[in-house]
Amino acid sequence: MPKVLTAPGMKKCIGCYSCMLACARTTQGSLSPQKAALAIRTVGGLQSRLVADICRACPDAPCAQACRCGALVPRSGGGVKFNPALCLGCRDCVEACIVQVIKFDEVKNRPIVCIQCGTCTRYCPHGVLLMEERA
Ligand code: SF4
Ligand code: SF4
Repeated sequence: MPKVLTAPGMKKCIGCYSCMLACARTTQGSLSPQKAALAIRTVGGLQSRLVADICRACPDAPCAQACRCGALVPRSGGGVKFNPALCLGCRDCVEACIVQVIKFDEVKNRPIVCIQCGTCTRYCPHGVLLMEERA
């Protein structure tokens, strides 16, 4: 069974954005964390804590169901595979994502979709993010 991205150690997150930078660099060829397929962000006021917006690797991924072009197809074990060559840039997948984690690259006219590659987990210095088999 392929593993999926989880964030079991958020209490240990220091907000260094190494995960976002690694994702953007590896999957988008970008040095901007804004181009990452996951997001670490703060919530709350002065006592703000950090949360992770990550793809939940849905078994019947709504983003793939919404894609009429075959650019997004279900991945074995959950989540999706993305073929940018088939993408029309319609944003239907962005709208369909039930946890609203799919970003859209306005320059490339393509969605920024987590492909469950696990790159982010390898660059987290505190073991916050993991690739785990679904329970
Ligand atoms: S933006 Fe691309 S991947 Fe998303 S639904 Fe449209 S064609 Fe499919
Ligand atoms: S790399 Fe790890 S510690 Fe740094 S922001 Fe990402 S999850 Fe948090």
